[in-house]
Amino acid sequence: MPYSGSVPDTAARPRDWMTRMACRTEDPDLFFDHAREHEARLVCVARCPVRSECLASVKATERGEHHEYRDGVVAALTGHERWRLDADAPVYRGEPAHLPLAGPEPCGTYPAMLRHLWLDQGMDGVCWSGEVRREYANRHWPKKGRRPKAPR
Ligand code: SF4
Ligand SMILES: [Zn+2]
Repeated sequence: MPYSGSVPDTAARPRDWMTRMACRTEDPDLFFDHAREHEARLVCVARCPVRSECLASVKATERGEHHEYRDGVVAALTGHERWRLDADAPVYRGEPAHLPLAGPEPCGTYPAMLRHLWLDQGMDGVCWSGEVRREYANRHWPKKGRRPKAPR
């Protein structure tokens, strides 16, 4: 294109994908409420057309970050989950972060679901059913503990 003589447009504005985020029309508190993690994950997985872009963005901005600086559900993963999955995340209070991404756990298990989400593989029906079952159990028997911890 020939030079038009106009000044380059450098105004800051949201990236295009941000205008399509499903969470824009949700209650922001939903993504910061531990009791509603499943509900927030559902918005990201089932309703958001830009989860891939969101995932890439949060991976880049949080990479190597301490556990305490990650909060809320983003791209269908809680702050704790993102910390566990980040190979560059530091040890936190003696607990190592790293969750092996090549683990043997089959679809339907919590680690398998996390791997799909972190590697942007999409969510298959078996893994989503597993998440729904865990959520049901957490809701009806909350004293037995929240979702299982990811293996080390
Ligand atoms: S994937 Fe990201 S942009 Fe989409 S709803 Fe979830 S947090 Fe919002
Ligand atoms: Zn799966």
